[in-house]
Amino acid sequence: MSKKLINQVAIVTGASSGIGAGVAKSLAAEGAIVVVNYPVAANKDAAEAVVTEISTKGGRAISIQCDVSKEADVQQMFASTVAEFGTVDILVNNAGIQKDSPFETMTLDQWNLVMGINLTGLFLCAREAVKEFLRRGIDPAKSKAAGKIICMSSVHEVIPWAGHANYAASKGGMMLLMKSLSQEFAHKKIRINSICPGAIQTPINRSAWETPEALESLLTLIPYKRIGQPEDIGNAAVWLASDDSDYINGISLFVDGGMTLYPGFTTNG
Ligand code: NAD
Repeated sequence: MSKKLINQVAIVTGASSGIGAGVAKSLAAEGAIVVVNYPVAANKDAAEAVVTEISTKGGRAISIQCDVSKEADVQQMFASTVAEFGTVDILVNNAGIQKDSPFETMTLDQWNLVMGINLTGLFLCAREAVKEFLRRGIDPAKSKAAGKIICMSSVHEVIPWAGHANYAASKGGMMLLMKSLSQEFAHKKIRINSICPGAIQTPINRSAWETPEALESLLTLIPYKRIGQPEDIGNAAVWLASDDSDYINGISLFVDGGMTLYPGFTTNG
């Protein structure tokens, strides 16, 4: 079977760990040229390890440092990518953080940090991606679309989350930013969608799976009775980035083992 993303240039933000690393590898396995973004020098080795793994398997990737909450950084990342590879075809806006706190003691810094990376980061990266997609238009040798953006949202764009108000607000905001942009640019053949992961085994939620007791408690929230893996999200990202999903625009694709099915009602509520 031929690869689905041959020669398409993909920027994956926050790709030195977890879901972003998984998505970068999945896109590369389908022939995409991947920019593995990481935020600070301390993540460089991990980002380079993802690049090396992709190269070892015959793929192409480079790493670029950029804090997605900083306008100049984001503009520089896109400029470097276009200088190196000619264009950008796919943005996976994955970078995201949690700064959890009871609401009454949440600091403005905790609020602003989460909004800055999770939501403003999407604004800044999507704006650069859209500009490049509009400049280039459709390249029929690569894709039916002029460009694709995949936003890494969360089940918490619809499930309220006490003690995590900043995170849930950022993901709820992401949903309407994604939908507004997909409405605005559909006629330009730019497709913009979200993936909403449930519980995926990554560093961001280590405390929820690192002990057998924690995992058992987590599984009560997941009807499919397993924790998700980065490849589960990678598979969804390949689909949303490829022409297999060419008529899909403005959706939130829940990849969550049924977490959004109100599992508390499984046994009659
Ligand atoms: P993770 O902590 O491994 O990944 C987050 C990544 O974002 C890291 O690589 C980190 O370096 C990067 N990052 C942080 N600040 C950044 C910045 N300013 N600029 C660029 N990159 C930055 O955790 P993960 O689970 O892989 O999370 C990835 C995304 O998936 C996040 O947006 C998260 O909200 C979302 N998500 C995760 C889960 C889950 O269960 N793991 C569930 C729902 C949504």
